[in-house]
Amino acid sequence: MKVVETIDDLKRLRQKLPEPVGFVPTMGYLHEGHLVLVRQARAENSSVVVSIFVNPTQFGPEEDFNKYPRNPQRDLAMLEKEKVDIVFMPSVAEMYPPQFSSWVEVGKVAERLEGATRPGHFKGVTTVVAKLFNIVQPDKAYFGQKDAQQALIIKKMVADLNMNLEVVVVPTVREPDGLAMSSRNIYLNPEERKAAVVLYQALGLATKLWSQGEKDAQTIRQQMTALIQKQPLANIDYISIADAETLDELDTVRPPALVSLAVKIGKTRLIDNVVLG
Ligand code: AMP
Repeated sequence: MKVVETIDDLKRLRQKLPEPVGFVPTMGYLHEGHLVLVRQARAENSSVVVSIFVNPTQFGPEEDFNKYPRNPQRDLAMLEKEKVDIVFMPSVAEMYPPQFSSWVEVGKVAERLEGATRPGHFKGVTTVVAKLFNIVQPDKAYFGQKDAQQALIIKKMVADLNMNLEVVVVPTVREPDGLAMSSRNIYLNPEERKAAVVLYQALGLATKLWSQGEKDAQTIRQQMTALIQKQPLANIDYISIADAETLDELDTVRPPALVSLAVKIGKTRLIDNVVLG
C-alpha cells in the first residue's frame, strides 16, 4: 500500500494502476462503515484508492473542523488489512492553494435538509469531491447511504457535469443496537451513547407506521417527534419525509420516500435515514 500526500505523486501512480479503479473518499477516523465501502470497492475493481482528507470547506465557522477526530496511523493500519493500493492524504494547502477560487454547486437539492441547517456544507462537499475525482480518475466511487443527501447530490453532480464514473451507494452499517456508525459517535459520553439509539427507533417507527398503511406524512413526522421528545438528551434539528429524488417534502407518502432526521444528543449532532418503498 502506498501512502501519497501530493497531487503530482498520486497522478503519477494512478497512471500505472490496473483498471478499473475504485475510489472511496473519507475524512478518516475510520470505522466499519467506511471499511464496508472499501471492501465493496476491493471486490468490484482491480485497484482501490482511498482518500483521507478532513475538508475544511464543508465545515461551518461554528462547526467541529478543528476537533474532528483524527488518527491517521490507525486508519492506515486498517486500510493495509483491506489491501488498498493507494491512500491519498493531502494537506489543506495541497488541496486549497492560496490562488484557489473555483466552486461546484448543484442547486436546489443542496439547500434542503443538511444544506438548510449547514449553509455552504454541500458546496464544500461537491467541490472537494469533484477535485478528488479529477485527481484520482476513478471508474467507480463509493458513498454511504448513511449520508443519503450527500450521495444524491454527488450522483447529480456526476450526471449534470458528465463526469466519467459510476457512483455506487452502499447500505448503512449500524452498531448492534441500531445506531448508525459515525466518526462523530466518539463525542458521545456513555449516557448519550445509550440515548442516541432514539434516531434508529424513530426511523423504525416510521417504517412500521408506513407498512401498517399510514400514508399521511405529517402523522408519521408527529409520531417520530413525540418519540424523540421523550428522550431528555435529544434535541430535534429536523425530521423530514421527502421525495427520494427531489427531496421535496411530502404530504402523502409515495415511495420511494426518504425519511431522514438530524438530532442533537447533548452537543453532538447525529443524522440517519431510511428509505420507504
Ligand atoms: P466520512 O468519513 O464521514 O466523510 O464518510 C466517508 C464515507 O463513508 C461517506 O460516503 C459516508 O456516507 C460513508 N459512511 C460513513 N458512515 C457510514 C455507515 N455507518 N455506513 C455506511 N457508510 C458510511
